[in-house]
Amino acid sequence: MSTPPFTILEIPVTPFQQNSTLWFDEETSQAIACDVGDAAPVLAEIERRKLKLQLIVATHGHLDHIGGTADLKAATGVPFWFPSGDDFWRIGLPQQASMFGGGIVEIPEVDRDLQHHDVVEIGRMRMEVRHCPGHTPGHVVFYDPVGKRVVAGDVLFQGSIGRTDFPRGSFKELEKSIKEQLYTLPEETLVHCGHGPTTTIGQEARSNPFVQA
Ligand SMILES: [Zn+2]
Repeated sequence: MSTPPFTILEIPVTPFQQNSTLWFDEETSQAIACDVGDAAPVLAEIERRKLKLQLIVATHGHLDHIGGTADLKAATGVPFWFPSGDDFWRIGLPQQASMFGGGIVEIPEVDRDLQHHDVVEIGRMRMEVRHCPGHTPGHVVFYDPVGKRVVAGDVLFQGSIGRTDFPRGSFKELEKSIKEQLYTLPEETLVHCGHGPTTTIGQEARSNPFVQA
């Protein structure tokens, strides 16, 4: 398999141990931050590796995925791309924070909407956007067809799937998303999950107890 032109680093953040990911090109030092639930650990990694952050993106609007985004935006001045289908979660960020006993969390402004079939592209970093509703209505995943990797947020986990008991969640929709948007990817595709260890499409398609191919 060819070496992908960029690295995906997982950085667990927040008490929910959400896997924020930092995508970066080791040659140009350009970077994209995804699912910034807390800014400090992501910023520390950017500084340690002397990366040039270009963009922040998110899979969906839950607190542990976007709670640190306004802070990182303020610190770096880069744009934020986010699926508008999850705007009610984004706008409700202060309520999410108070529900979980957190401090004051600022709502991040969105610079561009993310829709199905969009492409996130900075230099040699290129990710295809796939809409995968069910956990939340606007949820998207980011697929790298060259490196055969997907940043899946809270859609699919190793041996599990995202919760569907939140407002506007739907198991039927989540099952459809997983079957049509994820299980159709090459089976060796590495899955970066929003929580827990990585897995592969093949492993989950064969053995996931909740949704099988
Ligand atoms: Zn979530």
